[in-house]
Amino acid sequence: QAKQSGKSQWRFFDDRARQTTVHQLQLEAQLRTALDRGDLNLHYQPLRRLQDGKTVGFEALLRWTSPTRGPVSPAELIPLAEERGLIVPLGLCVLNGAARQVKRWRREQQADLYVCVNISALHFAQPDFPQQVQQVLEAHRLPGEALVVELTESAFLKDLDAAIGKLAALARLGVRVALDDFGTGYSSLSYLRQLPVWMVKIDRSFVRALNDDGDAFIQAITTLAHRLGLTVVAEGIEEEWQRVHVLALGSDIGQGYGLGRPMPASDVARWLEEPSVTLNA
Ligand code: C2E
Ligand code: MG
Ligand code: MG
Ligand code: MG
Repeated sequence: QAKQSGKSQWRFFDDRARQTTVHQLQLEAQLRTALDRGDLNLHYQPLRRLQDGKTVGFEALLRWTSPTRGPVSPAELIPLAEERGLIVPLGLCVLNGAARQVKRWRREQQADLYVCVNISALHFAQPDFPQQVQQVLEAHRLPGEALVVELTESAFLKDLDAAIGKLAALARLGVRVALDDFGTGYSSLSYLRQLPVWMVKIDRSFVRALNDDGDAFIQAITTLAHRLGLTVVAEGIEEEWQRVHVLALGSDIGQGYGLGRPMPASDVARWLEEPSVTLNA
């Protein structure tokens, strides 16, 4: 009896595993085609100064629609690209797309705007990553200060010395680095001391937990980050009271649906002229 059900469970699992593989192979093929054609889309979510609501930058977020499966979230797409050896071309595609846009917005709308690009740890691990970034800047005649590279702690797990060397190379280009999803890893606080980064993005789970113990964490991270001269971003601000609360705790910049949703590039110019006033920023 037990053996029977065990067996059927295995068959069920096996079918699911095979389905996933076909599914992934199909997505992979489609993603390759999209990359060949440069057919990836980015949305841009505003980063706003909490004091006065000024939009200081945008985070580029990958949006891709499979011809057969509809929209595929980055949470599914990025790991697939990492597994299938596509993360470097994908990252370069995102870097170039974001560079093209920010160039235009800086020229036509706001000269000091920057764009934040998420870079996979696997991509950052490439020995010539800083040179790749340099080439992107040169191709678009963009100053380094227009670009912020977002990394998570996973980028520093393997070879800390090499990573620090790359951060220094990026700094020489004028490119700034943000530590993304901060507080969710294991050794965040010690990294802060060793890594020459510019910005800390406090993970949105802490903003969600503000009424619980999130405020203590945000306060501690903020105090430490400011002591080290870093800029603090609170992620995932959805409601006005959260903006007020993280501002009181000392955060400099906010990002979240309540401050501005990710939008297509074509909406950004209008946004910069008239940002949403849903929150009395
Ligand atoms: P992330 O870098 O932490 O980006 C923020 C994510 O939170 C985005 O999800 C954004 O849409 C979402 N978000 C923003 N404000 C709110 C809010 O108020 N509430 C909630 N619940 N969510 C909010 P998205 O676009 O689905 O991206 C998910 C993750 O995928 C990103 O997290 C990033 O790690 C990764 N990702 C996205 N685009 C890229 C890319 O171009 N390259 C790489 N390597 N990773 C990317
Ligand atoms: Mg990010
Ligand atoms: Mg984040
Ligand atoms: Mg995140």
